[in-house]
Amino acid sequence: MNLILMGLPGAGKGTQAERIVENYGVPHISTGDMFRAAIKDETELGLKAKSFMDAGELVPDDVTIGIVRERLSQSDCEKGFLLDGFPRTVAQAEALEEILSSLGRSLDYVLNIDVPEQLLMERLTGRWVSPTSGKTYHTVFNPPKVEGKCDVDGSTLIQRDDDKPETVKKRLEVNQSQAQPLIDFYSEKGYLKNINGNQDISKVFEDLNELLKGLHA
Ligand code: ADP
Ligand code: ADP
Repeated sequence: MNLILMGLPGAGKGTQAERIVENYGVPHISTGDMFRAAIKDETELGLKAKSFMDAGELVPDDVTIGIVRERLSQSDCEKGFLLDGFPRTVAQAEALEEILSSLGRSLDYVLNIDVPEQLLMERLTGRWVSPTSGKTYHTVFNPPKVEGKCDVDGSTLIQRDDDKPETVKKRLEVNQSQAQPLIDFYSEKGYLKNINGNQDISKVFEDLNELLKGLHA
């Protein structure tokens, strides 16, 4: 099960990744999560990524490709992987082809979660996450059982720094300009599957599940 989850910021990649991992046990590789962990730990990678993330810009391709190359070569990815938020540029997609071919692997599906752009601002500014379990909530669309607390571990939910309206606007602009060339790239290769992301979270997962149950983890 070699998968990519694609979609603009707020499309629901992280939310669906939680469900795919729970049901299929594939390792979840989120470049955004890797960068946030590195920033928290104040590593060299974190230092390189921070200013770009704070500004809502993409982290440079060479840095991003490097961490994915290293992660995919780890043994837990031998049976499959779920890439979330990578690739985001055609250069990253080309590098991924090269990485996978050097590992003797190929993609099964690129799952593109499609959501009308005007809904994304509301999704992102209402997003709250648990810093410990990583679980994602939304104040209106997916609220926790107890306000402000994670259902899984009771931790106090936080808002990501880059989910402030000004940074969200910049992130949407940056990612929109990269989205179509990537969609074209994977469509030409025959991997692209479009998923309607403008439905209830559980319905989006049902649609994903229809595709995934034919593959083996
Ligand atoms: P991404 O990882 O693509 O940026 P997330 O999975 O973090 O997106 O979702 C962004 C926000 O939208 C979160 O607050 C999440 O709870 C909410 N969300 C995700 N999927 C849906 C959906 N299908 N309908 C409504 N809200 C959703
Ligand atoms: P979202 O899908 O909600 O935008 P992510 O957690 O995937 O959030 O990404 C957060 C930030 O991390 C991005 O705005 C960008 O700065 C950086 N980032 C994540 N993935 C990549 C990538 N593949 N290439 C470049 N920058 C990335």
